[in-house]
Amino acid sequence: MTLSPTPVAAPTHVKDWHAAARDLSPEAEAFIDGRYRPARSGATFATLNPATGRILADVAACGEADADAAVAAAIRAFETGSWSRAAPAARKAVLLRLADLIEADADAFALLETLDMGKPIRDSLAIDVPAAVRCLRWFAEAADKLYDEIAPTRGDVLAMIRRVPVGVVAAIVPWNFPLVTAMTKIAPALAAGNSVVLKPSELSPLSALRLGRLAAEAGLPDGVFNVLPGIGAEAGRALALHDGVASLAFTGSTAVGKLLMTYAGRSNMKKVGLECGGKSANIVLADCPDLDRAVQAAAMGVFQNQGQICNAGTRLILERPIRDEFLEKLVALVRTFEPGDPLLPETRFGALVSAAHAERVRGYIAKGLADGATRLTGEGPPAAGLVPETCVRPTVFADVDNSMAIAREEIFGPVLSVFDAGSLDEAVAIANDSPYGLAAAVWTGSLARALEAERRLDTGFVWINTLRVGDITVPFGGVKASGSGRDKSFHAFDSVTHRKSVWVDLSASS
Ligand code: NAD
Repeated sequence: MTLSPTPVAAPTHVKDWHAAARDLSPEAEAFIDGRYRPARSGATFATLNPATGRILADVAACGEADADAAVAAAIRAFETGSWSRAAPAARKAVLLRLADLIEADADAFALLETLDMGKPIRDSLAIDVPAAVRCLRWFAEAADKLYDEIAPTRGDVLAMIRRVPVGVVAAIVPWNFPLVTAMTKIAPALAAGNSVVLKPSELSPLSALRLGRLAAEAGLPDGVFNVLPGIGAEAGRALALHDGVASLAFTGSTAVGKLLMTYAGRSNMKKVGLECGGKSANIVLADCPDLDRAVQAAAMGVFQNQGQICNAGTRLILERPIRDEFLEKLVALVRTFEPGDPLLPETRFGALVSAAHAERVRGYIAKGLADGATRLTGEGPPAAGLVPETCVRPTVFADVDNSMAIAREEIFGPVLSVFDAGSLDEAVAIANDSPYGLAAAVWTGSLARALEAERRLDTGFVWINTLRVGDITVPFGGVKASGSGRDKSFHAFDSVTHRKSVWVDLSASS
């Protein structure tokens, strides 16, 4: 997920979000074949507001029978051709209508994101919902701009290379940017003519469930778009093992990504597109052209969304001559990030997604201290407006080396590890000494050093004198344990389409 490293402007409209939250009645049933329905077993799971610990909804806990029903509906819809063989321009019109409906319902979607996973309402309004709408519009527009190819064969044959939809795409997504991440999977899949079964995280299912109603209203035929809420090891596993699913579009942890590869091997060898974890390095060299900008980016690049960002620059590597000045500025800035009630428009730092996740993050902070790293920020009283269980203050550790757990493992919370380096060589060596390979950044005034670093950094993307910028036109994805898929841009169509080669013998035609 890619966001601006600059602070988000306050929402332009002021509203009593607590009152709006009381009036909201979220959809809590699965959306299969164009209608909402409970899980076949009748089972439910509670989704909580992490800022208060209160239950928001009891959501259908789908299992194998529901996955079967959703995949069967998706296959039926695919085979009728009403979507899969519709003119791309017709699909475009429906998807643009869906984007308009989401935009018109932006406040409700933003509220659901904030209530379900604890992010500040200003971020949900300014980042999450607009990014999801932009993504959907871009892929809708792309639907009728994809051309097939004719191969340069000899003249008495015609060889066409057609891009065809795979059939049923199962999109399995995490909780940190629930709506946007879902959209990066479902928008290209639907634009290409597939049917989709979306499995949202059990920690944040509500925005995905609301999408079902809007998809029907926009005119998506029944069965083309389905939402299957449930526990990962049940609903997610059933989809991943399903022989009717042709492609898995996954964003989530490396551990689950590896499992999905085995599920594909144990079932029908479905395609698997993986966007997994990260431990990205942010290298600031002594000739950094604008230290204040780099400080701002380093802080926002790791503490936005309470640090729950896959491409966060969680390993800050400072060349020694600027280390002390950089750290002084960074600490002063990070101390201004006061956690608070996510529903207040002024809040910049909210709750972590769950008490269990916050406990895991606290465990890493304890390990950092035990391993001898120096904590520079992160201590303080419980914050007002949040239950203590999900509140973790932005924590900066200095004097970190690559043998420590806080340096090697993905924490997925507000913890920044700072390293010192004596040279570009040393910085690149630290950066590459990681199982992950999602992203890296380098700050320098020298184009030659920047490009030298870029060439040697073993990651899916590199930022030079910036951090965590992105655009729907630019592919997003990693290497190594960060996965192999590419979201965004025309490359996103690769995991939801096949290339079919068609040979015509022209000499045989009359
Ligand atoms: P997760 O892997 O625990 O869960 C992701 C999804 O997989 C959820 O919907 C979950 O229910 C499902 N799942 C869990 N077990 C499953 C199983 N056995 N079979 C099928 N599905 C299963 O990840 P999370 O905690 O929700 O999200 C955090 C992780 O996501 C972090 O590692 C983060 O780096 C990663 N992430 C990566 C990107 C990226 O683009 N590279 C973006 C956002 C998040």
